[in-house]
Amino acid sequence: MKSVSFIQRNTQGHWVGDGFPVRTLFSYNDDPAAFSPFLMLDYGGPMNFEPTTQRRGVGAHPHRGFETVTIVYDGEVSHRDSSGGGGTIGPGDVQWMTAASGIVHEEFHSEVFGRVGGLFRMVQLWVNLPAREKMAPPGYQGITAAQTPTVALPGGAGSVRLIAGEFQGERGSARTFTPMQVWDVQLKAGHTVILPAPEGHTTVPLVYQGRVKTTDGQEASDAEMIVYKRAGEGVTLTALADTTLLWLCGEPIDEPVVGYGPFVMNTPQEIQQAFVDFQNGRMGRL
Ligand code: MN
Repeated sequence: MKSVSFIQRNTQGHWVGDGFPVRTLFSYNDDPAAFSPFLMLDYGGPMNFEPTTQRRGVGAHPHRGFETVTIVYDGEVSHRDSSGGGGTIGPGDVQWMTAASGIVHEEFHSEVFGRVGGLFRMVQLWVNLPAREKMAPPGYQGITAAQTPTVALPGGAGSVRLIAGEFQGERGSARTFTPMQVWDVQLKAGHTVILPAPEGHTTVPLVYQGRVKTTDGQEASDAEMIVYKRAGEGVTLTALADTTLLWLCGEPIDEPVVGYGPFVMNTPQEIQQAFVDFQNGRMGRL
């Protein structure tokens, strides 16, 4: 079994554009090795939005060197990018955007959600690419709830929706460049579950909502991540309340991380080149 290294939290919020009230729970600026292959996680909401006719969100901006994964729990997000990808996602849907060599995109509340308003809850996760894939062509995977296999946990403990990675013979539809599991897990209060986590892999589940207890006796609730040690296999969690957990586990990418804002590469020279390429329109246009 893996043991807990520490509980990660951040109570300071900020806005991304005028649509996304988030708390950045970790970032590549702080301790890239601890969370690798994951680079950043923005915990979005919960917030109630009043109806509006204005577009709320963030306009055209670039990314290079990694992937952005947007998971919607409540509300709707519309996305459009320079690779031709785009679409609107709602509760249970995921956008898996591979920026790789460069992409320009915009992220807004959907027109319908803007008009109706209501509860908004989402997560945006940044996933690193290995050096050999950082300049690969960009891509976009829109993954609907209907395309996401669900596996029941034993004993009526809850369920696992597979966004990426494999569990009990089912496989999430997201194509990833390195091995990882990204699962939307529902746990019922009072139940204990064992979740698989390979030896040596980063294992950093996020409690989106609820409360869980580890075998070390540590507890995590809303917007807190459990950071496990790499050694050992599998973890055991007890749900102290009905819990929505974002299960994040992946093989670390043991390479230098040099990032600046929307670009994450391996060297400072590559970051300078990213700025030049963006300014010259080499990451495409909307
Ligand atoms: Mn973005």
